[in-house]
Amino acid sequence: MISRILVPIAFAAALAGAPSESVAQAKVKAVASFSILGDMVKEVGGERVQVTTLVGPNGDAHVYQPTPTDAKTLARADILVINGLGFEGWMERLEESSGFKGNVITASDGVKPIDASAEQDHAEASEHHEDKHADHNAHDEHEEPAEHEGHDHGAIDPHAWQDLANGQIYVANIRDGLVAADPEGKATYEANAAKYLSEIEKVVGHVKEGLGRLPEARRKIITSHDAFAYFGRAYDLKIIAPEGVSTESEASAKDVAKIIRQIKAEKIPAAFLENVTDRRLLDQIASETGAKIGGTLYSDALSEPGGPASTYLDMFRHNVEVLTTALSS
Ligand code: ZN
Repeated sequence: MISRILVPIAFAAALAGAPSESVAQAKVKAVASFSILGDMVKEVGGERVQVTTLVGPNGDAHVYQPTPTDAKTLARADILVINGLGFEGWMERLEESSGFKGNVITASDGVKPIDASAEQDHAEASEHHEDKHADHNAHDEHEEPAEHEGHDHGAIDPHAWQDLANGQIYVANIRDGLVAADPEGKATYEANAAKYLSEIEKVVGHVKEGLGRLPEARRKIITSHDAFAYFGRAYDLKIIAPEGVSTESEASAKDVAKIIRQIKAEKIPAAFLENVTDRRLLDQIASETGAKIGGTLYSDALSEPGGPASTYLDMFRHNVEVLTTALSS
């Protein structure tokens, strides 16, 4: 749909006397699986790349159902950018049905994945925070086969973008993938990526400074699904979530009861809504524990353009603002 609209406009612009480069250079067609990757590909690709995003603003990529239009869009694309780590469970079938022949960029290639079942344990163990991480990292080289435990759908937590250092790995992978698919654009992609990577670095400083001011006792939060383990690991925040790393299955009454006991025992100050999940569960937990609802965090999708988190970096700025406002008082 988007490309059908954009092509005539680009053509009309060319006739109207747009720079000659845009006439000679057909744009690279990239498809990004979800909005956060779409934003990254736009940053790195710039003018050379036309980006279509499958799961748009406020969309839930865990449970997305591709449309026939998605298959047509993908069939025409040169590049497909996915998160990987099991996030887009629906992608393989879409790729097959579309007959996509281009390059796939897996943005998370090279990140240190979090084992979701280990992280669940971690969230429940209040002591030995650092030790457990060191232990976990030491075993990364020898991954055990995925074990299903409780509500988790697979052992790997896919939300790696919630650590900005991983975001930098994503950007480097996107840059390298674009260079491989469009070598003529190498200088452009490298310059765009370098600029973007340094912007990300600035936001890292902002996040660490903002969250660093929170007292130890208030560095614990509740979210509805377990989307912030990478965030918590990177910026020293304890995250508790009644739902697992996917939104596919709802929390059981037993899970909710356990969380409610934990919130009371640990005096967790606030619960945060997410832009991709229903608020009823959190409202119930908040009312039964007295934890306040601290605001809405953007976890798996950006906001609409013009909203508070319409880019990857605005998402971090917004989330840190919401967290520090709710947790510092
Ligand atoms: Zn998620």
